[in-house]
Amino acid sequence: MSTFLENTKQFINHAAEMAHIESGMLARLEKSDRVLEFEITVKKGDGAEEKFQGWRVQHNNALGPYKGGIRFHQDSSLDEVEALASIMTWKTALMDLPFGGAKGAVKVDPKKLTREELEALSRGYVQAIWENLGSYKDIPAPDVGTTPEILDWMTDEYSKLTGKWSPAAFTGKSVDKGGSKGREIATGFGGFVVIREYLLQRNMERPKIAIQGFGNVGLHIAEILYEHGYMVTALSDSKGGIYGVGGIDIPEAVRVKKEHGTVSPAFFPGKNFQSISNEELLELPVDILIPAALENQITETNADKINARVILELANGPVTPVAEARLEARGIDIVPDILANGGGVVGSYFEWIQSLEENYWEAKQVLEKIDAKMVAAFRGVCETKKQHGANWRMASYIRALLRVAEAMKK
Ligand code: NAD
Repeated sequence: MSTFLENTKQFINHAAEMAHIESGMLARLEKSDRVLEFEITVKKGDGAEEKFQGWRVQHNNALGPYKGGIRFHQDSSLDEVEALASIMTWKTALMDLPFGGAKGAVKVDPKKLTREELEALSRGYVQAIWENLGSYKDIPAPDVGTTPEILDWMTDEYSKLTGKWSPAAFTGKSVDKGGSKGREIATGFGGFVVIREYLLQRNMERPKIAIQGFGNVGLHIAEILYEHGYMVTALSDSKGGIYGVGGIDIPEAVRVKKEHGTVSPAFFPGKNFQSISNEELLELPVDILIPAALENQITETNADKINARVILELANGPVTPVAEARLEARGIDIVPDILANGGGVVGSYFEWIQSLEENYWEAKQVLEKIDAKMVAAFRGVCETKKQHGANWRMASYIRALLRVAEAMKK
């Protein structure tokens, strides 16, 4: 099976061909500007030292400072970080933001560290590369396994090292530490806006929705969908999931997740929920399937078993190119990551502006601005779809590639 980076390059190559981007420019667009590889040493609670592998990949800054999250995950690799950094470049371009693309990671299972060790690791990450970061250079944010508290530690460490309080050097911070109201739900909210716009074009009565991943992104989109009267029938996290044909009471599921750390039928007495694995969730007969966990979830192995009518990629890279071709042949739409989960970086953009000005807005104002940006991006993609006869992913990539290529030429 091809790697995440190879899959991403395949999408870029195909879109570049459709957009008639010449090969010299394509080679420049594919290449990362800078790859930082480093080790972080953490003194553990028992006095022993442990080393963790860290990365930051700065892919392209033709449109503005590098921008992208930091992931803490035991399976992270340089291949993954490079793919995610490139995806960030296309996402910020598609969302019409003055940012480039970057990504970072540490190969670690954050659940195995104490709070003190996690703080030391987060500060160590910044100590290793702080000279390459900054409000107008490279602005990290949260991703899988990282939280507002971790971004607060990073902002504090960066400010200490530079001798200047620098809240705009990081986004996804806590609201009381210079973060933005609405940022935490921004990715889920943006995904909701995309569903809302998509459904204006499609006839789907009371769609049934399944969500893989019940972390920051999956949990918030579930809550927003529920508040707007949509029916979520299945949910899962890394430990397993639940399926209820009649729909799941999301506030109850959130309470269970917070109390027990996972969702399982045993925690919903009186509800007739079925226990399902992550793999089974993907194959359920639903209208909208939302992968909101990790990459490479829908591949050639399970593509033929997918029963959804549309897939909304809230995770980055959950569908591989081979799977996409098979799904498309069966008439299944795939709304790609760079459009579907763009709400997160749009929220970060508004946090960056507020942090630069040290002037903070109400959540309603932030969400209205995110809504407008998402609608503009969605409509732009619809236009490009028509112009090029392209699918959702190709139309999104064509717009993004052309915008970055134009900036590089200038
Ligand atoms: P998170 O760490 O908050 O949550 C991840 C969730 O996925 C957890 O519930 C975890 O249990 C679950 N999970 C892990 N492995 C799984 C598996 N194999 N099957 C099912 N569930 C699994 O991370 P997040 O921030 O919600 O990010 C999720 C995805 O969204 C990632 O692909 C990330 O890159 C993408 N994303 C996040 C943001 C953001 O603002 N946080 C923005 C854009 C895209």
